[in-house]
Amino acid sequence: MPARAAPSFPSAAPGSRDLMQGALDTLENVFGYKGFRSHQSDIIRTLLGGGDCLALMPTGGGKSLCYQIPALVRAGTGVVVSPLIALMQDQVDALRDLGVKAEFLNSTQDRATQDQIERQFAAGALDLLYVAPERLVQERTLNLLERSEIAIFAIDEAHCVSQWGHDFRPEYRQLKILAQRFPRVPRVALTATADERTRQDIITELSLENAAAFVASFDRPNIRYTIAELGSVSARERLWQFIETEHPTDAGIVYCLSRKSVEETAAWLSSKGRKALAYHAGLEANLRSAAQSKFLTEDGLIIVATIAFGMGIDKPDVRFVAHLNLPKSIESYYQETGRAGRDGEPANAWMAYGFQDIVQLRQWINQSDGSEAFKKVQRQKLDALIGLAEMPGCRRRALLAYFGEMRPEPCGNCDNCLNPPHTEDGTVLAQKALSAVYRTEQRFGVTYLVDILTGGVDERIIRNGHDRLSVYGIGKDLPQATWKSLFRQLTALGYLTIDEEGLGSLALTERARPLLRGEERFLLRVARQTAQVAKRSSSSAQKVARENQPLFDALRALRQKLAAAAKLPPYVVAQDKTLIELSEKRPTSESALHDIMGLGASKIARYGAAFIEVISQFKKHPALSNRLSATVNVTLAAHLRGLDAEAIAAERGIETSTVYGHLAEAIEAGLITAEDALKLDPAERDEIEAAFERCETRDTGKLGPAFAALDGRYDYGILKCQLADSA
Ligand code: ADP
Ligand code: ZN
Repeated sequence: MPARAAPSFPSAAPGSRDLMQGALDTLENVFGYKGFRSHQSDIIRTLLGGGDCLALMPTGGGKSLCYQIPALVRAGTGVVVSPLIALMQDQVDALRDLGVKAEFLNSTQDRATQDQIERQFAAGALDLLYVAPERLVQERTLNLLERSEIAIFAIDEAHCVSQWGHDFRPEYRQLKILAQRFPRVPRVALTATADERTRQDIITELSLENAAAFVASFDRPNIRYTIAELGSVSARERLWQFIETEHPTDAGIVYCLSRKSVEETAAWLSSKGRKALAYHAGLEANLRSAAQSKFLTEDGLIIVATIAFGMGIDKPDVRFVAHLNLPKSIESYYQETGRAGRDGEPANAWMAYGFQDIVQLRQWINQSDGSEAFKKVQRQKLDALIGLAEMPGCRRRALLAYFGEMRPEPCGNCDNCLNPPHTEDGTVLAQKALSAVYRTEQRFGVTYLVDILTGGVDERIIRNGHDRLSVYGIGKDLPQATWKSLFRQLTALGYLTIDEEGLGSLALTERARPLLRGEERFLLRVARQTAQVAKRSSSSAQKVARENQPLFDALRALRQKLAAAAKLPPYVVAQDKTLIELSEKRPTSESALHDIMGLGASKIARYGAAFIEVISQFKKHPALSNRLSATVNVTLAAHLRGLDAEAIAAERGIETSTVYGHLAEAIEAGLITAEDALKLDPAERDEIEAAFERCETRDTGKLGPAFAALDGRYDYGILKCQLADSA
């Protein structure tokens, strides 16, 4: 959707060009960014000239700058109305780290603090003030505002004014008063909710009839959509393949349907060596909030959650959102996947699902309390999602079309665009599958039907005499996964339906008749080979070039340390894109830091020297440019900084034995020696070597005997490093 320019607003007002130059300077000096995104400059120009705006932009679109910059450029304080009290502290902290004078007023503060902030505000000492809506509309606050100079009003999450949405906040309706009491102060309403009804509500309820409306596309081009078919590999195995190849050290969210699978998946990822925490409504509140705050403050954490997780999470560097099951509608899918990549950097929305999910969700709908009409809508929404999952075309185009945005070209950044599924004539197979349903009286589920087709020896099959059916075993030559996929496709396309009780048994629909009679053909979508997917993945979604990965990881470790010291989330100290640019350009002077995206004057003063130090170290140690894995290189970099194995383990939050394993790899690659890594004294080293000799360790490669011969006095890891050294 193109932007609609302001019809009546005089954008060529006197001095507006100077103001726009001021905006660009602020963008560069304070935020460290080079240019505005498409709608930002239009919105900012309008506000700087005194006009009102309505800004509809997707999550991650860059709404905050739209009011923060005018607040800084215009005289007076910018007042931001936001319902998300929990996020105010974070927003204010982030602004302060940029050198902006920001405060907030809400009910979580004590009286003395509030008084002090009000005094600062009245004295004109603040650039930005965040206020909860119920606080703003109090007469006392309005009086305070009238006595002060206001640069602009920003009404964030403006959809809260609409009772049609799920976030309706009655206090938002009272914000109309701003138009009456402050007619000369420009106002901007911002939201990520795009539907027409909500937009109309915002305009009427906030008296924004004369505002210029800017509607950005709701596309999230940096998110890559992938919906994986479950072949012979389990969903969890597929998840691990995906995380291991694409996000070995990134933060992400994994959504599961049930609490039990949340717990199990978190444990499974932990057993694979990733930090993963469970999050669901059944956990105690303090455990939940601990998991949430860890997710925000630690790098590279994975949260495994039911959909309860995510509301009000503003973490910009969530690099992937994975669904281990089907969500319940396209709306939920888009909202949940939308939590990935708010910073605009490449991110993945990945999903794997099986037939069982459809059955399960159907069952839930049937058992829910809603009216029949409500359930019908829910079923339609589920069907639309299944359609999306089984479609062969561009997923993004389908998603956007669902939300009313038409896009002619395929996107080039979804699984189907990158790796178009192969289709072949599946008419005969479909007929066999449908006959199996028919011959068993339409009373059975997929697993049973697939067993029949492939000639499985299930006790129930024998009992029911179904081993004597003509369809029994006629599909033996194909793997079970192919049959399962076929049944899913037949269901998604409406040839089969799942019973109303949601028990999972399949029945034929009217559509099936012509296919069974051979009057219609069926195109089968053939599952991609797992190996192919993995190959494609490792080459394309890489955001950090391989040779820069070690420096990037070291910078990330530094950021974690700086953040902990400043009591800020890491992404507030510096975003991933800033670290990526640092790892590419490797600046070693303060002036060179100014060219890096995201580094304004305040950040450079605070963190510049520390960044330069790490970068200089990398320039000194060419050993760090190698072909070992990223995690080995983080260990190696820490080692080169002079840390011993224990200290590295503590800093990275991994086991000491793992650290030794990494060091052993570096030794084997000839990058460091066992002597550097272990700092053993010569007597100790000789003792180990003697044991190796006696046990013929260097011939067998087996450490057990030497470990025993040394009475376990040396850690396995130490022995491993010593063995890796060819000396
Ligand atoms: P929204 O509130 O619309 O979800 P934000 O205002 O949080 O989005 O911005 C999303 C991300 O985009 C942030 O990481 C922000 O720093 C970044 N960003 C916004 N505008 C620009 C810009 N002009 N140049 C570079 N990065 C930007
Ligand atoms: Zn596409």
